[in-house]
Amino acid sequence: MALWWNSFGSGRCGPSVGRFVFACGLLLLASCMVNPVTGQRNLGLVTPQQERALGETHFGPLQQMEGGRYRADPMLNAYVNGVGHRVAAASGVSLPYEFVVLNNDVPNAWALPGGKIGVNRGLLVELNNEAELAAVLGHEVAHSAARHGAQQMERGMLMQGALVAAAVGTRRSDYAAAVLGAGQIGATLVTQRYSREAEREADYFGTRWMTSAGYDPQAAVSLQETFVRLAGSRNQDWLSGLFASHPPSTERVENNRELARSLGDRGELGEARFNAALAHLKQAQPAYEDARAAREAAGRGDWGSAMGLVAAAIEHEPAEAAFHALRGDLLRAQREYDAALSAYDDALHRDSQYFGHHLGRGLTLQRLGQYDRAQRDLRRSIELLPTAVAYQSLGQIAEQQGDREAALAYYRIAGESGSPAGRAALSRVVSLDMPRNPGRYVQVALAGSGEDLRLQVTSLTDIDLRDVNVRVRLEWADGQVDNLLPQISHLRARQRAEISLPGREASLAAARVFPLTGRPASGSEDI
Ligand SMILES: [Zn+2]
Repeated sequence: MALWWNSFGSGRCGPSVGRFVFACGLLLLASCMVNPVTGQRNLGLVTPQQERALGETHFGPLQQMEGGRYRADPMLNAYVNGVGHRVAAASGVSLPYEFVVLNNDVPNAWALPGGKIGVNRGLLVELNNEAELAAVLGHEVAHSAARHGAQQMERGMLMQGALVAAAVGTRRSDYAAAVLGAGQIGATLVTQRYSREAEREADYFGTRWMTSAGYDPQAAVSLQETFVRLAGSRNQDWLSGLFASHPPSTERVENNRELARSLGDRGELGEARFNAALAHLKQAQPAYEDARAAREAAGRGDWGSAMGLVAAAIEHEPAEAAFHALRGDLLRAQREYDAALSAYDDALHRDSQYFGHHLGRGLTLQRLGQYDRAQRDLRRSIELLPTAVAYQSLGQIAEQQGDREAALAYYRIAGESGSPAGRAALSRVVSLDMPRNPGRYVQVALAGSGEDLRLQVTSLTDIDLRDVNVRVRLEWADGQVDNLLPQISHLRARQRAEISLPGREASLAAARVFPLTGRPASGSEDI
């Protein structure tokens, strides 16, 4: 794009990135770039091509993590995409924009770098008209177009953010904590809190562009007022959703009000069009509330109520694949595998593009001993979104089929996540592999000398171990040889234990020490 140019060697990068001036001058591979929206110079550590690639790479996994696409009414997605493109066209910043509606109760919207934008079903039902939707999408378009995500990356915030992504993730999706690889990074990009400056810019340009696109700028003000009011109510859904990354404030309302005044009284609200587009979803809303109540009932172990509520949800909105899958989850939890299988079939018949439906059916087929079909579903779920649960299940099937090496490979991948499934997989790795390769899991060494001789045993694994046996052979200068078999009853993950060995006054002539065996402390029941 013409607006991005290499100004390397031209001196300053601009006042807002003053502290990076030095870095700009030194980094030969980097260049300062003019921001296509603000006109300010930014660091160019992340190129526009990289930004687009980042958006392309993470858009799919992130949609999966956030509940998958909303498909019960395909017209709604087309409608939202249309409004998004109308606003984006007014921005004058050319990106491969894409707007998708996600099947998620939480009121939220997000933008990945490169114009990839998601809006949750749970936010759409809270809006009053098309102009408010345009304000939301304009705001997200501005985050993307003004490179706010890329700027955060350049400031090194991504690395810090990656550490909290798992914690944030658990609130956003049941599977998020167990998601491996790409999904994690995408989540980090959109769960970070934007700076006040970025929010101000996104409001300013978003409102200008929606107005240029023909919408009433007052909608941006009324929307912000609603947000401030909701923030005061401490509603957990809002706080964990939209407000976590885009904190509302009275300052934002004031700024928007002033801007709307200067833009004048014009534009449309598009209320009738909006109501028509949202009619199906709004009519189905009680079913989503039933499904939510069903999950809560299941959480309390009240299976009777949960099954009744999910049946009511399906009756009200049979087109919603997630309700059939939820029914499958409930049946699977009650070990009614045949019934669960048919519920997942119903879900996949309506939506074969969501990893969770494939995962649920794969886990059920595993229980039914239909390993070939289970593997197909589990692999498909991994293509859509890699999870520790799917890899662990593939490992169990491989183990069941006597393929120890394949099982270990799957378990090791699952073990990369700190989730319960990942820890269970690591336990299996230790059970299967430690008898053959104990040195991979513990490191042993001698410390001290003479009468103060100690054995140090260091865990190299992320799970606790018990009954770690070590062989020690000590040859003393006076000719005595000691063969010892000390045991550490409990060795904590990544910790070092130290025990005293029977020492002698003489000095050591030679010593050999190596680990023999050990077991996971818990969570490794044989299958
Ligand atoms: Zn924002």
